[in-house]
Amino acid sequence: MHETDMTKALIMTVRDWWDSQPEQPKVEKIHLIVGQFTCVEPASLQFAFEVQTRNTFLEQVELVIQETPLIAFCHTCRTEYQPQLGLQYNCPQCQSAMEDIRSGRELKIDRIEYAKIAS
Ligand SMILES: [Zn+2]
Repeated sequence: MHETDMTKALIMTVRDWWDSQPEQPKVEKIHLIVGQFTCVEPASLQFAFEVQTRNTFLEQVELVIQETPLIAFCHTCRTEYQPQLGLQYNCPQCQSAMEDIRSGRELKIDRIEYAKIAS
């Protein structure tokens, strides 16, 4: 369900960009950055994308997913650490609660590869 909504938002974003181009280019690949802490399963995202782009201008487009790890910053020790998803979110040194997430929550389009349509 999560992935389905994410995919809808993703397709809408690409669609807006595509519509704003003077000549609608042929999209070949979409590079995505997905943080581990978004709880998005890359495989589910791939599947949702494939289903939702069927018979659209994005059919057959390859989705390239790059995952970024969850990284938190502890203000007490002033160090970055990597929490263990689902197990340990507190700072491993002083047990302070996780309060500052440096990365791992992003879900964004890194870049779109496309070819100009030869006229
Ligand atoms: Zn700490």
